[in-house]
Amino acid sequence: MLNQEALTLSIGSDLVLGCTDTEHSKAALTEVVKRYLVTGLNVNLSLEPSKEGLKGKIVHSTYIHPDQECMYCMGQINGQRMSFELMSDAQKEKRANEERASTANSSGAYGLENLSFLR
Ligand SMILES: [Zn+2]
Repeated sequence: MLNQEALTLSIGSDLVLGCTDTEHSKAALTEVVKRYLVTGLNVNLSLEPSKEGLKGKIVHSTYIHPDQECMYCMGQINGQRMSFELMSDAQKEKRANEERASTANSSGAYGLENLSFLR
């Protein structure tokens, strides 16, 4: 939790609402739920671009309870994306180039499309 005031307000609350889309923010919300035994709800939005503009918007919501699976166990937090978030722009560009080269050299079940959303 980066903000001490938000953490203080979260402790003892009926519900902690997370509305961000980074892996680190989801991990922070999970930590608050598990450590301080509060209920959490993470809500984020996915946008589907098209050539004409915006094709659609999908709202994702994840209920997190201290006695149930956390966001890691539910597969809602991706460690690879988490490490990508910590990279500098130069490191991200280098990684993207490596992914492009890797994808070009194979039929690639894992390719650049997995990283492109992070740009
Ligand atoms: Zn878990």
